[in-house]
Amino acid sequence: MQALVLEEKGVLSLRDIDLPLTVGPDDVKIAIHTVGICGSDVHYYTHGRIGPFVLREPMVLGHEAAGTVVEVGSAVKHLNVGDRVCMEPGVPNLSSRASKLGLYNVDPDVRFWATPPVHGVLAPFTVHPAAFTYKLPDNVSFAEGAMVEPFAIGMQAATRARIQPGDVAAVIGCGPIGIMVALAALAAGCSRVFISDLSSEKLAVAEQYPGILPVNILERSFAEVIAEATGGWGADVVFEASGSPRAFDGLFELVRPGGTVVLVGLPVEKVAVDVAGAISKEVRIETVFRYANIFDRALELIASGKVDLKPLITGTYDFADSIAAFERAAAGNTSDVKLQIRLADGT
Ligand SMILES: [Zn+2]
Repeated sequence: MQALVLEEKGVLSLRDIDLPLTVGPDDVKIAIHTVGICGSDVHYYTHGRIGPFVLREPMVLGHEAAGTVVEVGSAVKHLNVGDRVCMEPGVPNLSSRASKLGLYNVDPDVRFWATPPVHGVLAPFTVHPAAFTYKLPDNVSFAEGAMVEPFAIGMQAATRARIQPGDVAAVIGCGPIGIMVALAALAAGCSRVFISDLSSEKLAVAEQYPGILPVNILERSFAEVIAEATGGWGADVVFEASGSPRAFDGLFELVRPGGTVVLVGLPVEKVAVDVAGAISKEVRIETVFRYANIFDRALELIASGKVDLKPLITGTYDFADSIAAFERAAAGNTSDVKLQIRLADGT
């Protein structure tokens, strides 16, 4: 079947490729409907690698997906043919020590779509464990279903932060993940979420949500704004979602004594951290790697209407135009948040 294949760094093709489609007893086969383009897909396209994961042979891209169940394994109980679903792209070894602890996102054996050498799902069909396949509520579209994966990272960050009702949060970085974190923090009970960036176009996207307050750091320092807003006390929770080494300069000035800093962005190089600044406030530091046990909750929030991800979908392409979609994503248009590719009709 035809798939969007990353042949090597910088070379994409839409071509036939053999993908395993055997449905085991615990699996479902899914006709893919919508796939979002993630920063990691684009990075493999432009750089051919992310950290230790190096593209050595052609790989199908795409891991943010929704579709329709077309075949069900004999042992599957909770899904039926025709169900609209979204899928968790990482499949852990369920017997692993990490999985038994409920930390399956950090299972060293996890196989994650579109992470070499595992193929992604920019293809008409995939076979996936039913345990990591989630039925979409009737009022959640395929496009929204394909947004659950990036939103799940924001949800994981809010969960790790242990937000309390009324908390004031500060998010560094207004990229797609920063916005997802801000929305999840609001849904978790934050009263106000300040978000910083140097791009006024990115901040304008976040500003359309009541409760999210944009701060352009070309105009004012983030620390100054947070201090002013909190009477000099600091934010209860600070999320680092930029991955920029510069964000670590003065990071602990943003947080209140006894507050929490959650590290979400992944810096490429080692960064210097002001340990004394953290210790003097007894800051709790948390980290986020993907997500575990989040998809059900994300779908609940979206279905309830408390979180609306639709305004973040800034472009939709037909499967035949996938390469153009990736070229636009690689161009890094600042007003784009999420581009999606549709492989089938209907909503
Ligand atoms: Zn992603």
